[in-house]
Amino acid sequence: MVRLEGKVAVITGATGGIGSAAATLFAEEGARVALVDLDEAALQETARSIGEDKASYTVADVTRPEQTQAYIDAAVNRWGGIDILLANAGIEGTLSPITDYPIEVFDRVMAVNVRGVWLGIKYALPVMRAGGRGSIVITSSTAGIGGSPEMSAYNTSKHAVIGLMRSAALEGAPSGVRVNTVNPAPIETRMMRSLEEMRVAALDDAKVTVEVTKRSYADRIPLQRYGNPEEVARMMLFLASDESSFCTGGVYMVDGGRSAGSR
Ligand code: NAD
Repeated sequence: MVRLEGKVAVITGATGGIGSAAATLFAEEGARVALVDLDEAALQETARSIGEDKASYTVADVTRPEQTQAYIDAAVNRWGGIDILLANAGIEGTLSPITDYPIEVFDRVMAVNVRGVWLGIKYALPVMRAGGRGSIVITSSTAGIGGSPEMSAYNTSKHAVIGLMRSAALEGAPSGVRVNTVNPAPIETRMMRSLEEMRVAALDDAKVTVEVTKRSYADRIPLQRYGNPEEVARMMLFLASDESSFCTGGVYMVDGGRSAGSR
């Protein structure tokens, strides 16, 4: 079954672990994908691996309004419309208690993870409304439904996009545009490597290696492991496709049971 036949998907953070898995899966399911990220060489490589007849790309910083308008326009010009926005670009910030957390890092995390998603919706919605349908999928996190120490900026941002999603779902519903979040637990990507390394550096204890840190994070997940990007991409595919035609305003966990509680 080809579940996104004839659809156009804009994907931000498209060269990252989860974004590139989603772009690849969406294209396999028949979509044309418009990739957005910061690094041109990485975008070129991702587009090439998907196939240039199915993938285009735009270099853009999602925090910038004019660059957001440009990536939306580029997708429309190349593929004739937009059916799906996967607002997925994100950064982790740093690990630090609130009292020591650098203000400029807090601002940057909020700019990428919240303002970037808001801008994407702001400029994509008119295009989707014109088509009378659409699906917006936002990458939130288990950090969007619970707190964790030393990750205040990231936690705040991932909670914020759930509020944004709910407002956008109500605004989009009359014109058939659905909006949902996908909330992964730790997934095997650069972002978790970065967090593990920051944790090891902060503890400065020879016994606490990256492997030990990873095991301790994985032990908090009932399925006892990190997820992989393809497992997240499959939920994104469901929400992007017409199979989820009655789903809007929802928070969809992909978390190995993490949100069910701890064992
Ligand atoms: P990643 O670092 O591999 O990918 C993130 C991508 O976003 C990168 O390609 C990066 O260049 C891009 N990006 C960052 N700032 C940008 C900007 N200003 N403009 C455009 N692109 C920008 O990490 P990932 O794990 O694939 O993360 C994807 C999303 O999933 C993020 O929103 C992240 O918060 C979320 N998430 C990740 C995990 C995890 O464990 N990896 C868990 C829950 C949620």
